[in-house]
Amino acid sequence: MTDMLRHPHFTCQRCASDNVLEVDVSEGFPQNFVWDCLRCCNPHDITVRQDGDELYVQAELV
Ligand SMILES: [Zn+2]
Repeated sequence: MTDMLRHPHFTCQRCASDNVLEVDVSEGFPQNFVWDCLRCCNPHDITVRQDGDELYVQAELV
């Protein structure tokens, strides 16, 4: 049984904090959602793409 949850990171574009996402790979890719930085609460427009076994996160301030 493969764990369907992955936890890619991204760096906040405002305060440079490391944020850990939770992604359900069974939902397919690409995935797009809004994530608030856990430290400064600035929302980011997140896009997660999969390439083979790797996940790539693109984060832009909303
Ligand atoms: Zn932040």
